[in-house]
Amino acid sequence: MIQLFWPTDYDVITQRFGANPQNYARFGLPGHEGIDFRAPHRTNISACADGVVYRVSDGRDGNNYGRHVRIEHADGYKTIYAHMDEPLVEVGDEVKMGQRIGLADNTGNSFGSHLHLSLKREGEVARGYYSNLIDPTPFLMPFGWTPPEDEWDATELDKRIGDSCDCEKEE
Ligand SMILES: [Zn+2]
Repeated sequence: MIQLFWPTDYDVITQRFGANPQNYARFGLPGHEGIDFRAPHRTNISACADGVVYRVSDGRDGNNYGRHVRIEHADGYKTIYAHMDEPLVEVGDEVKMGQRIGLADNTGNSFGSHLHLSLKREGEVARGYYSNLIDPTPFLMPFGWTPPEDEWDATELDKRIGDSCDCEKEE
């Protein structure tokens, strides 16, 4: 079980996983395939968990994610941080949970500066999705949470965000 550190400086989710199916049908997806977070232009994007950077894209390949960073974690999990202005890590870098890895923007298929976060896990996929995409929501820790220095126990997970966050609808 992975714990995902809140990756932006703002306590606002602008689009949930699975939202707005009408916008994603053309990609063959049943809905939004990650979580969007408020992230104004050139604000900090942080790694959700310890891992190793396995891809950094300058966006010139036309990828919908624009300039983005992909990190591989333990237990087959991978996170993708999309629509950046500037990645601040390189392939092969070891990163720590909460470490700044880039600055936010609006590159790729995006309308307005924000962070799009996708979570993948080898051997798993959310119903109707593909490419090992799963819902990050159950793993996302609350804004302001920091991991304890010692091992934590599973009761920490009871504090996860659930449905209590301050959500906004994306235009
Ligand atoms: Zn998104």
